[in-house]
Amino acid sequence: MYDCIIIGCGPSGMTCALYLKRAGKNVLIIERSMPGGQMVITTNVENYPGIAKIDGATLATSMFNQIVELGVDVKFEDVIDCDLDGDIKSVKTDKNVYQGKTVYIATGATSRLLNVDGEKRLTSKGVSYCATCDGALYKDKVVAVVGGGNTSLEDCLYLSNIAKKIYLIHRRDEFRGDDIMVKKIRQLEKECKIELLLNSQVTKVLGDNKVNAIEVYNKISSTTKEYKVDALFVAIGRIPDTQMFKNVECDDSGYIKVDEFKKTNLSGVYCGGDVSNTHLRQIVTACSDGAVASLSINEYLRKR
Ligand SMILES: Cc1cc2nc3c(=O)[nH]c(=O)nc-3n(C[C@H](O)[C@H](O)[C@H](O)COP(=O)(O)OP(=O)(O)OC[C@H]3O[C@@H](n4cnc5c(N)ncnc54)[C@H](O)[C@@H]3O)c2cc1C
Repeated sequence: MYDCIIIGCGPSGMTCALYLKRAGKNVLIIERSMPGGQMVITTNVENYPGIAKIDGATLATSMFNQIVELGVDVKFEDVIDCDLDGDIKSVKTDKNVYQGKTVYIATGATSRLLNVDGEKRLTSKGVSYCATCDGALYKDKVVAVVGGGNTSLEDCLYLSNIAKKIYLIHRRDEFRGDDIMVKKIRQLEKECKIELLLNSQVTKVLGDNKVNAIEVYNKISSTTKEYKVDALFVAIGRIPDTQMFKNVECDDSGYIKVDEFKKTNLSGVYCGGDVSNTHLRQIVTACSDGAVASLSINEYLRKR
C-alpha cells in the first residue's frame, strides 16, 4: 500500500514524487515510456529558471536521478485502468495492480499532428508545437502558424514581437478564437506583420536539415503554393491522456478539472501539469503543480 501513486514520470509527476519522498512518504511512480515526458523530445530548454540552456533529455535524466536516489519506487508499466472512487485507490497496469491511499495524475498531453509529409522528420528542426518554448529561436525570421482557435491566435500575438513576418494558416474562413483576439490579429494584418491564408491547409513541410518552406493548398482556388518560412508552429489542439480515469471530471476539451490545491472532484485524487485544465503548459508550471499537489496530498494523509 503506497501513500501516493503517481501516474506519469514527466516533470510534474517527478516533482510531486520529490516533495512527497522528502516528506517521508511511500511513493510509487508509474511510467509507460521513458522518464521525462515531453522533455525527452525537446532539443533545447531555454526558459527553465537558473539554467540558461539545457537539452530536454539531460534535464529529464537529472530530475529522474534525483528521485531514484531519494528512493522513489519506479515501475515502467502502462496504466490501463483505475478505480479511484473509494478510500483505497486501485491502479491497474498492463502487468500489475497497485493500491494507494492517494493518486496524483500527471499523464500530460500530446500535440495533435498535421500528419503531412516532412512534419515528423523536421520536428524540432523548425516544426514546433509550442510557440512559447521555441518562438525566441526565430527572431526577425519568417514563420507560419497553423490553426484557427485561441492557441494559434495567441501564438501569433506572441510571435509578432519576435518574428519579422507571420503567415497564419487556417482551413476555414473564420476563426474559432475569441473576438478580441481576432481583432488584434486583424490589426496586425493591417500593419503587414501577419498575412492570413484562409481556406488553406499545409500539405508539405520542406527542408533538408531544417524547415525552409511549406506547401499550402487553397481550397477555393484549388491551387498549391510554396511559402518560404524558417519555422512552422502547429497549434491545432492537444490530446490529454485521461481515458482510463473514470469518474474524474474533465472540462469540454478533455482536461481534468482541478482547483488551486490541485484537487479533482474525487477525494484523495489530485492532478497537475499538462493533463489538467491549466492556463500555461510548460515545464516550470508542471513542476509547480506537482509541488502544490504534494502539500495537498500530505494534508489529506494527515487527516485520513
Ligand atoms: C517539442 C516540445 C518542446 C517543448 N519545449 C518546452 C520548453 O522549451 N520549455 C518548457 O517549459 N516547456 C516546453 N514544452 C512543454 C513541456 O514539455 C510540458 O509542458 C511538460 O513536459 C508537461 O509536463 P507533465 O509532467 O505535465 O507531462 P508530460 O511531460 O507529458 O509527461 C507525462 C508522462 O506521463 C506518461 N503517461 C501518459 N499516460 C500514461 C499511462 N497511461 N501510464 C503510464 N504513464 C503514462 C507519459 O509517457 C509521459 O512520460 C515543450 C513541449 C514539446 C512537445
